[in-house]
Amino acid sequence: MYIPTPSSFDPDHRGHFGMFGGRYVPETLMPALLELHSEYEKIRFEKNFWTEVDYYLKDYVGRPSPLYFAHNISRELGARIYLKREDLNHTGAHKVNNVIAQGLMAKRLGKKKIIAETGAGQHGVATATICALLGLECEIPMCAKDLAPQQLNLLRRKLLCAKPKAVQSGSRTLKDAMNDAIRHWVTHARDTFYIIGTVAGPHPYPMMVRDFQAIIGWEARRQILEKENRLPDSVIACIGGGSNAIGMFQHFLEDESVTCIGIEAGGLGVESTQHGASLLKGRPGVLHGQMSYLLQNDDGQILEAHSISAGLDYPGIGPEHAFHKENRSVHYDNITDDEALDAFVWLSQKEGIIPAFESAHAVAYLKKLPDIAGQLVIVNLSGRGDKDMMQAKELLHFD
Ligand SMILES: *Cc1c(COP(=O)(O)O)cnc(C)c1O
Repeated sequence: MYIPTPSSFDPDHRGHFGMFGGRYVPETLMPALLELHSEYEKIRFEKNFWTEVDYYLKDYVGRPSPLYFAHNISRELGARIYLKREDLNHTGAHKVNNVIAQGLMAKRLGKKKIIAETGAGQHGVATATICALLGLECEIPMCAKDLAPQQLNLLRRKLLCAKPKAVQSGSRTLKDAMNDAIRHWVTHARDTFYIIGTVAGPHPYPMMVRDFQAIIGWEARRQILEKENRLPDSVIACIGGGSNAIGMFQHFLEDESVTCIGIEAGGLGVESTQHGASLLKGRPGVLHGQMSYLLQNDDGQILEAHSISAGLDYPGIGPEHAFHKENRSVHYDNITDDEALDAFVWLSQKEGIIPAFESAHAVAYLKKLPDIAGQLVIVNLSGRGDKDMMQAKELLHFD
């Protein structure tokens, strides 16, 4: 059974990964964050809590997710490529790993209401799902920009939330949705638990969400050792806020022989202004309760991010990634919209697996990885592409 272990990349007691992270929030939120932190310290290594998490991950989510040897693309590239199948999880992505555990924490803290931000809507769907499962009330603002292409997720959410509460929202983007969620939380922290969908936000969220997603890398490490009897040369994951990537990297970071590669959204190209490459093109700053890399203009105004995939268009990034970038413990690069769309078609037609647009960024990097011939590589397939089919229909000009 997976239980986190202390890592040499744990933040300090105030949540700092080097200069990044921390807890930059209004005074009124401090009691809620301190309460959460002290509860998390209690359960972080507690067998009872993880036994409960394990039960839901196995019987409800369907873990462990398979590590699939992708024969056809391996043959084409002359390498050995494995896909970590987070797309096969209940609700279709890795998000549920984190949301289940946070839902169980909310119950422990006696909170009956849940607030969550959502961009792609995958986090919204996962949150609405566990609210139904655990009997919690869910309040989720949705950003207008995501509504049209993400209709399927919106409908799923409407079905799952018996009494959906409209949270006042002027949201157009994920950045705004997170602002709205935090604003709502400020005035409702006493009875409301905020389920953050990625390794961002004020301490302890980045550490907590990383622990909850680290089951991905924990499983993948055991699976690859069993199948190949050695560690991979590289592991690749896409990065929005950075949770599936950190979850995958966590159990490989201390191995010198393994290169961890995080792929940001290159959008229309990182030389344009239309991308989501916060690490590559951003500068350190404070947003959503944390210090991290942000896309900002010369005056420090936060810029809008762009990506073909709603789950990657976030102008910030989890603080631990900012630390890994400066520390050079992870290699970061980007993939454009066009390259991701090519990979979306490529994986669908070669392996019969339709990846989420987000995950297609990680898949696309296989074609850019220098000296891939002969390498053993794991790609984290963070989610499935059903939600992206309406967008794909337009982009690929289906009748
Ligand atoms: C939300 C999402 C992402 C991006 O979020 P991270 O926190 O960076 O993992 C990636 N892939 C899928 C399928 C998603 O739903």
